[in-house]
Amino acid sequence: MSKKIICAELINKFEKIFQCPICSSPMGIVDLKSLICSNNHTFDIAKQGYVNLMTRSLASRYDKELFESRKIIAESGFFEPLYRMVSEWIKNDVRLEEETVKILDTGCGEGSHLSRIKQKISSHSTGEVLGVGIDIAKEGILVAAKHHSNMIWCVADLAHSPFKSNTFDVILNILSPANYKEFQRLLNDNGIVIKVVPRSDYLKELREVFFDEPEKQSYSNQKIVRRFNANFETVDMFRLCYSVSLSKALISPLIRMTPLSWSATAEKIEALLNMNLSEITIDLDVLIGKK
Ligand SMILES: [Zn+2]
Repeated sequence: MSKKIICAELINKFEKIFQCPICSSPMGIVDLKSLICSNNHTFDIAKQGYVNLMTRSLASRYDKELFESRKIIAESGFFEPLYRMVSEWIKNDVRLEEETVKILDTGCGEGSHLSRIKQKISSHSTGEVLGVGIDIAKEGILVAAKHHSNMIWCVADLAHSPFKSNTFDVILNILSPANYKEFQRLLNDNGIVIKVVPRSDYLKELREVFFDEPEKQSYSNQKIVRRFNANFETVDMFRLCYSVSLSKALISPLIRMTPLSWSATAEKIEALLNMNLSEITIDLDVLIGKK
């Protein structure tokens, strides 16, 4: 079966979660080909197995190489402790047996986080787990759809998201900008939002090489944490700090996966490639909130 048909059938099965990003009316799959609203706004399913629901075009510096690099890094086990912790939380908090658990990853990029977390939850669930990933970067969604066909992948703008209110049990927002108004709308009353933000030591080995000014080498997430607390009742918050050993083959994808390198000169990138970095620090805050 083609990727397009598999995608259309999965969306067809869950078409009730969609609403038109233009006029907010209900949507349905027509001819296993397009997602169409009751006012005939039409979004075709792409042959690569995703649907583009953008209502305007947005330029993004996030290119294919960046997402392929993220995939390599994620698959090397970089974020495994994070996946373990997040999926434990979901397993303990969300009633997995009853009906389909719906998880939305906002800013999913190439889909590695969602796919791995879903896999971990599914192995402990007798019910079905639906994973939906959205990102404004089409290049990310293309990589996601290429490697994972059992989830719904949408190119979509979080500010005009194509889903009905009170739809999701879990909203993931991992190292990506939030839209709390939309999170409030999309989350069901018992649902949880899991936001992952970098702390000061996140990838500090890269910062130390890329930035000369000490104030740029460090980073504070205080404002982000305050905004989260103002929008959701924080039910848990934990810090996750660990170091990952790096093989030489991972250094180049590590540099390419992060916008930290965008402002770095070629000399600095060269210096980093030559310094035999053997470990990198992961330092994150995981915020868990309810409405
Ligand atoms: Zn419409």
